[in-house]
Amino acid sequence: MHGMPRIGEGRSLKKALERFWAGRIPAEELQRTAAEIRHLNWKAMADAGIDFVPSNDFSLYDHVLDAAVMVGAIPERFRTEAGPIDLDRYFAMARGGAIDGHSAAPFELTKWFDTNYHHLVPEIEASTPFVPDTSKLRGEHTEAAALGIVTTPVLVGPLTLLLRSTGSSNRYALGRLDALVDAYGQVLAELHREGVPWVRLDEPVLVEDRDAKEVQALRNAYRQLAERSDRPSLVVSTYFGSVGSALPILADLPVEAVGLDFCRGAEQLGLLQSAGGLGDKVLMAGVVDGRNVWANDLDASLALLDQLADVAAEVVVSTSCSLMHVPVSLRAESNLSDEVLPWLAFAEEKLAELATLAKGFGLGRVVVAEELDTNRMVRRARLRSPRVVDATVRQRVAGLGNSDPRRSTRSEVRAAAQQVRLSLPPLPTTTIGSFPQTADLRSARAAWQTNHIDDVAYHASLCAEVDRVVRIQEEVGLDVLVHGEPERDDMVRYFADQLAGFVLPVEGWVQSYGSRCVRPPVLVGDVSRPRAMTVEWARYAQSGTSKPVKGMLTGPVTMLRWSFVRDDQTESETAVQLALAIRDELVDLQSAGIAIIQVDEPGLREGLPLRTAERADYLAWATRAFRVVTEPANSETQVHTHMCYAQLGDIMDALGELDVDVVSLEAARSGMALAADLKAADYQGGVGPGVYDVHTPGIPTIASIEVLLRRAVEALGSDRVWVNPDCGLKTRQYDQVVPALEHMVAAARKLRAELETD
Ligand code: GLN
Ligand code: ZN
Repeated sequence: MHGMPRIGEGRSLKKALERFWAGRIPAEELQRTAAEIRHLNWKAMADAGIDFVPSNDFSLYDHVLDAAVMVGAIPERFRTEAGPIDLDRYFAMARGGAIDGHSAAPFELTKWFDTNYHHLVPEIEASTPFVPDTSKLRGEHTEAAALGIVTTPVLVGPLTLLLRSTGSSNRYALGRLDALVDAYGQVLAELHREGVPWVRLDEPVLVEDRDAKEVQALRNAYRQLAERSDRPSLVVSTYFGSVGSALPILADLPVEAVGLDFCRGAEQLGLLQSAGGLGDKVLMAGVVDGRNVWANDLDASLALLDQLADVAAEVVVSTSCSLMHVPVSLRAESNLSDEVLPWLAFAEEKLAELATLAKGFGLGRVVVAEELDTNRMVRRARLRSPRVVDATVRQRVAGLGNSDPRRSTRSEVRAAAQQVRLSLPPLPTTTIGSFPQTADLRSARAAWQTNHIDDVAYHASLCAEVDRVVRIQEEVGLDVLVHGEPERDDMVRYFADQLAGFVLPVEGWVQSYGSRCVRPPVLVGDVSRPRAMTVEWARYAQSGTSKPVKGMLTGPVTMLRWSFVRDDQTESETAVQLALAIRDELVDLQSAGIAIIQVDEPGLREGLPLRTAERADYLAWATRAFRVVTEPANSETQVHTHMCYAQLGDIMDALGELDVDVVSLEAARSGMALAADLKAADYQGGVGPGVYDVHTPGIPTIASIEVLLRRAVEALGSDRVWVNPDCGLKTRQYDQVVPALEHMVAAARKLRAELETD
C-alpha cells in the first residue's frame, strides 16, 4: 500500500509543528510526536497483515520537499557548508525564514495533481547540484526495523520530481534527468547496503498527457536505474488516473513490480489485457480507493482481482494511492449516525478492507464469507436509504432535462438596468467577502460549539461583528459592501452543514499542506435546501447601510470539489443537484432585495481533469451547473463570481460561459498580466482584477495599487473595471486590512478624478 495519513490522530502533528514554530517546544518533542505517528501507522499496517509496509510516506511538511532534500537539490539561498539540511533550513524552504541573517523566500506551493493537497515546488535549475542525502530514508527504515517491521521506502520518482519542479517549464528540464537519475541510483545503492529489499518509486506524472520525449526519458531513466546490480527490487507506481497509451512502456520497464490505480483508472484492466500483461512482474493493484471515503465494494474488488491475476505473475492487493487524502479513522466520529457509519471507510478502516481482500483473493471467498455478507448488506441498505434518494430532487433534475439554462437578457441590457438601480461610480470598490476572523469571533464560535454559550448569545456576537464590518466599510468609503462572513468558518462546510444530502465528520481532517488541514464534508445523498441559509445575514447587513450589500454564496462546483463525492452517481449529476439548492438561495436573496449576489467558484479551475481530452466535457457541465444557479437572476440583479488564480489560460472560454456580470480574480502577484490576457481573449464582462495580494504581509501603498489599477484600466477600459483585493480577508488582521482598503479606495478615487477631468 502507498502510505498512511501523516497528520496523526487529532491532528497531533499539526499541533506539534505549530508549537515548535512558535518556540514553545524543542525539536526533540516535535520529533517524538512524529515518531509516535510513524510507529502507530506501522503497527496498524503490520497488524492488518500488510506485506509491503511503506516508510518515508511520513513527512514533517511535504513529501515532494523531502524528495528534493533527498537528492540534495537545495537552492543556493538555503545551502550550508555544514552538511545535511537541519530542521530550521527545512522549514525555511517550506515557509520562508531567516537563513544566516538573511530572509529567504520559501518554495512555491502548488496543487498535487487534482487532489486538494498542495506540495512545494522544488527548484531544479540548469546548475542545481545533486548531492544525495539518505538520512531520512535510512532513519525511518531502521526505526521500523526496531519494531520488527521491514518497510518499503517510498520515494517520488525522478521523472515526477523533475516535472513537478520549477525547471519543468524550461527547455533544459529533461536534460537534468540523467544527473538526477544518477543521484537516485546512489540512493538505491545506499538503501541496498542497508539491506532494504524493496523500494517504491512513484511516477504519477504518467497519468497526465506526456509527449514522446518524456516517455522516452522515463524509459532511459529506469533502464539506467535497473542496470545497477547494487539495488533493491523496484516498484514503479502511478495513481490518480490511467496511464493510457504509456501502459506498454510501463509494462516493459526493467523493474520487478508495477503499481496501478484501478479506482480512477479502471480502463487499465483492458489495457493490460490487450498489452499482453505484465509478464513476470508483480502487479500492485490499487483497488481500495485512497481518494474517497466509501466502504469498498468487496465483491467487485475480488472480481477485478481475479481478472488481474491473469495479467501479472503475482497480484498484491493495494490502495489506489496514499491514504493521506482521507481522514485517519472513523473511531473518532461521534456525530455520524449508526446508519451512515458502516457506509464509510477512513484510512484505518481501509486497512481492514485490504486485509479482507487479500484473504479472500489469496485463500478463497469462503474464508471471508462473513465480511462479504456484511458488506453486501450495508451496500444494499445504502442503496435503499431515504438519506440517499430524494424523489423530489430527482424530479427537479429531470425537469431540467438537457436544457441550457441562461439568463434571459444579454449582458449589455443587464448592465444598463443594474446601473439604473445601483448608480455606482466608475471603478467601483468592493471586497471579496470575508473580513478578518478575529480571536473574539473564534472563541465565541468555539464556546457555542461546545455549548458554553447559547444560540442567542452567539447570534448576538455575530450581529455585533456584522455591524462593525459594515461600519468599517462605510468609513473606508467602499461602494459595494459585504457582511463579512463572520458566521462561516469554512465556505464549503458552512453550506454543507445546512443542506440535506451531506454529512460532516467532526474529526475528518485531511492535510492540505504543511500543518494546514481541512475537513471536507461527505456527499451521501440527493441535495436540497430545507431553508434559507444566508438571507438573514445579507438582510441584516443591508438594513444597516444605504450602500448595496453583496450576498455571498459558494458555487456548486466548489461545493463538489471540496467535498468527498458520491460513488453512485456522476459528479455532473451531483453538481446539478447542488446547483438547484444554491439557486433556491439566490432566488431568496433576490426576493429579499439584495441587488448584488456573488457566487464563488475558486474550485472550478482546480477541478480541471488531468487529461486535456477530458477538459471540454468537464467545463461544459461545470459551467452549466453554475448557470443553473444564476439563471433566475433578474436583469437588475448583478451576479458576481470570484476565483483565486491568475492562470486562466485553460479556462478562458469557460469564464465567458459563466455569463456573470462581474468576475473578480487574483491578479496582483503577476503584476496585472491577467488584464492583458482577458483583453486578448476578448472577455466582455465586468472584471475586478485584484489590485493587491492579501497574502503578502504588510500594507500595500497607494502608489503600488495605483500602478496595477492603471494597467487594468489601460487593458480593459474604465467602464468595466472593479477595484478589489485579490481574495477574501478572513486570515488577515484588522490593523492591516483597514489601511490597505483605505489605500485601495484612495487609488480608485485618484483615477476616477482623472477620468472626470479628461
Ligand atoms: N467569499 C470568500 C471569501 O472572501 C471567497 C473565498 C475564496 O476565494 N476562496 O472568503
Ligand atoms: Zn479567493
